Amino acid sequence: MRPFEFQRASSLAEALDLLARPNARALAGGTTLIDLMKLGVEAPATVIDIGGLPLDEVTLADGRLRLGGLASNSKVARDAIVRAQFPVISEAILAGASGQIRNAASMGGNLLQRTRCAFFRSHDWPCNKRAPGTGCPARDGANAHHAVLGTSDHCLAVHPSDLAVALLALDAVVALQSNAGMRRIPLASLYRLPGSTPDIETVVAAGELITHIDVPQTELAARSGYLKLRGRASYEFASASVAAAVRCEDGRVAEIAVALGGLGTVPWRDRSAEALLIGESLTDAAIDRFCTALLAPARPTEANAYKLDLARGAVRRALMRSASC
Ligand SMILES: Cc1cc2nc3c(=O)[nH]c(=O)nc-3n(C[C@H](O)[C@H](O)[C@H](O)COP(=O)(O)OP(=O)(O)OC[C@H]3O[C@@H](n4cnc5c(N)ncnc54)[C@H](O)[C@@H]3O)c2cc1C
Repeated sequence: MRPFEFQRASSLAEALDLLARPNARALAGGTTLIDLMKLGVEAPATVIDIGGLPLDEVTLADGRLRLGGLASNSKVARDAIVRAQFPVISEAILAGASGQIRNAASMGGNLLQRTRCAFFRSHDWPCNKRAPGTGCPARDGANAHHAVLGTSDHCLAVHPSDLAVALLALDAVVALQSNAGMRRIPLASLYRLPGSTPDIETVVAAGELITHIDVPQTELAARSGYLKLRGRASYEFASASVAAAVRCEDGRVAEIAVALGGLGTVPWRDRSAEALLIGESLTDAAIDRFCTALLAPARPTEANAYKLDLARGAVRRALMRSASC
């Protein structure tokens, strides 16, 4: 491990000043950052403990749920309002990691966790995400767990967060604060496709802190749910997951949101595919047409093409579970 300076921020203003330093990182629960520092994947010059800042609210007001950047995964998942009005958030969190990790893990850290791609996490291999321009061994190597959507010749690392998939389906907005002010970024625009620069994963700029996440309260959100398929029943990242919400009128789809996890280099959603289901009954044929459109951009490898079948099955199950039509 390389030496680094450790600082504990006692106020948001102090945290932002410290974060403005070159190569500084915020430390929230530390369940990802410390791992990556031990592996030598991350080597910040300054680590700023933000754990003491008052950013852990979980509140419903003015038609939106506000999740503080430091609210723990466990606190959010067990919140009575979240469970009743935004069930997909609670279900997605509880489908991830373990109880102990969820107690430490924060909202901001969850959204900014990095891929579990084994090539990225090991210095024994080149990796365009860890060391730009060195290559991507996953392209012709062991890639059964890699992404099928949003890949490029430079990277097929899958996005790991379950929470991000749920928040994408609910049109959440992420508040980023820096010394330059506050920006509000829709979650749909937070993550960047890898393209030729897979090392740049989000639009979060150096010096910015996630202070909170806002989720609109809607009838659709109350009808949401999360389904996660994985290699074992717990303590495992998704092979394919679906955050789904459907509202029907007279037996036909009036509103729908479907986001995929475990399949893309970023959490995946396609509103034009969703539009195909508006006004339709949720028949097998209609869901098939939807899945075909949703998965059309996929570029599977021989080893991970199975994910497309998983996704179709998961979408069907998730829609049938969420829909009352
Ligand atoms: C064994 C294991 C299994 C797991 N399984 C799953 C799973 O199935 N599904 C899943 O979704 N996740 C899973 N996780 C990941 C886990 O959810 C994340 O490690 C956790 O959410 C990260 O939160 P943290 O507060 O500990 O982040 P940290 O480790 O403190 O930080 C992570 C990154 O986010 C940055 N950061 C943290 N907070 C902020 C902020 N407010 N503003 C700006 N930057 C910030 C840090 O600088 C760092 O770069 C697993 C983790 C482990 C170790």
